[in-house]
Amino acid sequence: MEKIVIAIDGFSACGKSTTATAVAHLLGYTYIDTGAMYRAVTLYFLNNYIKLTDPRQVSKSLNNIELGFEHAIRQQESEIYLNGVNVSKEIREMFVTEKVSEVSALPQVREKLVTQQQKFGKRKGVVVDGRDIGTVVFPEAELKVFIVADLEIRAARRQAELLQRGQLVNLETVIRNLSKRDRLDTSRSVGPLKQAPDAHLIDTTHLTFSEQVEEVLNLATSAMLKLHQSKNHHKVKQV
Ligand code: C5P
Repeated sequence: MEKIVIAIDGFSACGKSTTATAVAHLLGYTYIDTGAMYRAVTLYFLNNYIKLTDPRQVSKSLNNIELGFEHAIRQQESEIYLNGVNVSKEIREMFVTEKVSEVSALPQVREKLVTQQQKFGKRKGVVVDGRDIGTVVFPEAELKVFIVADLEIRAARRQAELLQRGQLVNLETVIRNLSKRDRLDTSRSVGPLKQAPDAHLIDTTHLTFSEQVEEVLNLATSAMLKLHQSKNHHKVKQV
């Protein structure tokens, strides 16, 4: 079957990345976590005291950043490398999470990362999650999904996820962070978070993890079938 691009966008902590990871694994596709890329750039800026209001400093430091993914098949997770160093754990720390939406609103940052993401997806067979994947990065994606969930549910899920990683963060702090990121992500001028007109909306508030995965898989199968049929139709017409 022809490989497709699956774009998954939505608000923070709606279950995008866990769903995307599982779908990619089940289809034998590559998962691209674009949020991890914005987080890695944020970590670099924080570690190097980059002034976000200074475009020259931002641009210069972006030239010194090299990002790479390694897919740990056994854990079904992807690890991100910043200039050769695995920073997968560090980028999930609260000090990065607090700053990432400010950094990702910078046009220069978006330009660099969008170009890289488009290169990663060139050969298809990818599941890409983020905020602007169906609208900016892969507007031609064969399947677009937009995930939403109630803020309280998202916060509780994120708190549990952080706890699993050994970070104890109180619920109020998580709610405040998610609301702030929702506001910044939807209101920025470049690549704001919004549902593409042709994206399928999934509300995960009352869904279990397996139900979320199943919904996306069903949509993916339909999209693959549609592509297959349109290619065959095209061939028949040519004969
Ligand atoms: O997906 P995750 O929560 O890890 O993303 C962290 C932040 O990165 C988001 O809040 C958003 O500010 C930014 N981001 C973005 N565009 C993407 C992916 C993430 O602006 N495609």
